[in-house]
Amino acid sequence: MKDRKVKKFFSNLSRMAVLSFLISIIICSSMVGVVIVNKERSEALQQEQFILEKSLRIQEALSRLFFRTEILAALIRQGNGYIEDFDAIAALIVDDPSISNILIAPDGIVTSVFSTHDDVSSMIGHNFFDESSGNIEAIKALEMGELVMAGPFMAVQGHMILAGRLPVFLDTERTNLWGLVSVTLRFPEALDNAELSRLRIQGYEYELWRINPDTGERQILDSNIQDASADARYVEERIQFLNANWHLRLLTTRSWYNYPEVIILIIAGFFVSLLVLFIAQNNFRLKQTRAELDILAKTDPLTGVYNRRYFADIVQTDIKRSNRFNEKCYIILIDADHFKNVNDTYGHLTGDKVLIELARRMKEIIRPYDLLARYGGEEFIIYMPNSNQDGIAAATERLRLRICEHSFKFADANLDISASFGVAVIDDSIEKAIKNADDALYKAKEEGRNRVVFYRA
Ligand code: GH3
Ligand code: MG
Ligand code: MG
Repeated sequence: MKDRKVKKFFSNLSRMAVLSFLISIIICSSMVGVVIVNKERSEALQQEQFILEKSLRIQEALSRLFFRTEILAALIRQGNGYIEDFDAIAALIVDDPSISNILIAPDGIVTSVFSTHDDVSSMIGHNFFDESSGNIEAIKALEMGELVMAGPFMAVQGHMILAGRLPVFLDTERTNLWGLVSVTLRFPEALDNAELSRLRIQGYEYELWRINPDTGERQILDSNIQDASADARYVEERIQFLNANWHLRLLTTRSWYNYPEVIILIIAGFFVSLLVLFIAQNNFRLKQTRAELDILAKTDPLTGVYNRRYFADIVQTDIKRSNRFNEKCYIILIDADHFKNVNDTYGHLTGDKVLIELARRMKEIIRPYDLLARYGGEEFIIYMPNSNQDGIAAATERLRLRICEHSFKFADANLDISASFGVAVIDDSIEKAIKNADDALYKAKEEGRNRVVFYRA
């Protein structure tokens, strides 16, 4: 039942309703489009801001940790090449869990090493300046005279490390080389302060990569990417720290459909458009009903010609116009002959069909500006403005013949029908003219029916 109603609603949609709906959809879609574009723009800005912030924080975290090498170097310079209680000082310097170990190596040979995590005693005696044992970064540091970072690489202790090697000179001219100090960091724990892990909560995935200087291949240093989709938007920032050249890539897999406000806007837009459709359709139906009511108020429901009331209204108005132009106007009353017999013989339904056909035949004959109405029962009335006696005589005769010349053919009956006509000119009032036409009609009946009689005073 409900289903049928819905179906009916949609199958009877007016063009205006569909158009309103489409316009509303277009407006709402544009609004959603603008929101999405703005959203993505601000999202991209935020992404840029995040990557900048994170890059800076990575640099900052590494600087802060590797600064320990400078402290060690300063202490050595102060002690003129000698640190009194290395372990006590080292325990003070190693104040961060991501520091794996710190060591001092006069002339490149490790003499003291401190670690809170691992057993590093095996490192004692290791010569950093020995080229054959692969201490590339230590030698580089020596050549450049500044802090050089090695790694990340796998340490013998079984975890990834980053090492900062700083050559120490005892004089300010940097000619008197003392040796080397080194701070080793656990990786990626050394980046903890950059809070990269928070990026996932903020809706981003990240990848920290570099071109491995040893292999020349792209090496992912740290990443939280679970499944990188091909359409993920990403931004990248280069992180230059000491001799290292890293890249931070920030990905967002969020698309417009991941924003609840966009989804809400789409749903709201759809419902608003639907509402517009309903309102427009109701408006259309209201207009349609009004038009139907209008027709109903004017017409005779059986024959479809005008009813008596509408006829009176129109003629009243038109007669004033006709009088001004001195036109002659006529009233013709038409009454079906022996109609009672039709009903009695063939039944009321056939009688109705006869009335419908009668009206149809008369409508065919009259001029566009003549007015035909059902006067009541089997009687009809015609108003013919702007005519004359001859014209009316010819017109009524044509009407009479159109009715009686050919029988009325129905599936169940074949009837010969005729009608009588009473004609009167409108002189004083319409009422008077109708009365006169009725008199003439009476006379037509009396004289044998199926004829036209003009009223004569
Ligand atoms: P006359 O030639 O003298 O006019 O004879 P008549 O039988 O037509 O006249 P009468 O006035 O005695 O009968 C009119 C009949 O018309 C009676 C009535 O039942 C029938 N009639 C009136 N209105 C309708 C209608 O809407 N439908 C049908 N089927 N019959 C109607
Ligand atoms: Mg009658
Ligand atoms: Mg009759």
